[in-house]
Amino acid sequence: VYRGSEVVYSLSIGIAPERILRVLQRRALPEGWVASVIDRSGTIIARTRDSQRFVGRKAVEQVIRHLANGREDTIETQTVEGLPAVSSFSRSSVSNWSVAVGAPKAALEAKLYRLIAWSGTGLAAAVALGLWLAARLASRVTTAIRGLNDAALALGSGRPVELPRTQLIEADAVGAAILRAARVLEDTRYLAHHDVMTGLCNRVLFYEVLRRQLAAAERSGGSLAVLAVDLDDFKAVNDEHGHAAGDRVLRAVAERIRQAVRGSDVAGRMGGNEFAVLLCEADATSARQLAERLVLALSEPYGERMPRVSASVGVAVFPEDGADATSLMERADGALYEAKRLGRSRAVAADG
Ligand code: GH3
Ligand code: MG
Repeated sequence: VYRGSEVVYSLSIGIAPERILRVLQRRALPEGWVASVIDRSGTIIARTRDSQRFVGRKAVEQVIRHLANGREDTIETQTVEGLPAVSSFSRSSVSNWSVAVGAPKAALEAKLYRLIAWSGTGLAAAVALGLWLAARLASRVTTAIRGLNDAALALGSGRPVELPRTQLIEADAVGAAILRAARVLEDTRYLAHHDVMTGLCNRVLFYEVLRRQLAAAERSGGSLAVLAVDLDDFKAVNDEHGHAAGDRVLRAVAERIRQAVRGSDVAGRMGGNEFAVLLCEADATSARQLAERLVLALSEPYGERMPRVSASVGVAVFPEDGADATSLMERADGALYEAKRLGRSRAVAADG
């Protein structure tokens, strides 16, 4: 209170450092941390650790400098005891008092190292997992490609195609395409070697098998026989009963020929109403016997309202009648021609 320019009364209010200390202590700081309140002159007025010793003393010079320059900052410094610390402070613009909180550098670094260690372990685990997944994927892709490669090679060489289970959509699509191609190839190959109407092998396959069997018989010194079979007056069957009835007869004839021969023998449709049979390891006698049985079997009735049919058969035997497929078949055809000439519905052997 002034009287004129003279101060007559003055009022001072003091706050005991213990009160400020209690305020500081309300915040439970981690072990080793220290909080202080520093006044505008840089004097410590409250401190959570060793307050008796340090209250009233100046704060560290570096801290005081920073408090003068800025309102808030974090710096690496030393505590008044001389311990390395990281200190954060904030200065009030009203009172110019500052609160500084110091954490021991060692504790912070240990925490940091622990964090780095955890992150490193996590990173290593993630990389290991990534590598494992990549290896699995690579192995899956390699297995798929290897399986598809095998399937493609099998397709190219005409072997049965087996598809791997790939678990890869793209590889499965390629596998399905290979499988489709294999089926088309199989169908085409079947059509190229078989007669669709009767299911018997066609002329191409019959000659192929005959050549193979002739080579084997030649090597082993064995024998074989071929029968040339032709239906008698078949044109009349078509003319009188229709082409469809003729087809049914042709299918039934094929079935009877199939039934008459052994599993190891081969029957083929050479075209039209002409068939051929290859009898493996047969001699002249057994071939002639089978030819006669065939003539009888083919002339049996084919069912109600079905035309009566008979067949003529020519027989040629390896090695007596011919040494190769063409000459042997020519001899069998010659014998067949002879059977027709003699009145049909009979078997004639090439050697007479
Ligand atoms: P041959 O006793 O001299 O053998 O007299 P053929 O009438 O049987 O004469 P050929 O053996 O020359 O047979 C020709 C006939 O066979 C002509 C045709 O009507 C019939 N033919 C040929 N292929 C087929 C066919 O696929 N289906 C039917 N239904 N008939 C056919
Ligand atoms: Mg005929």
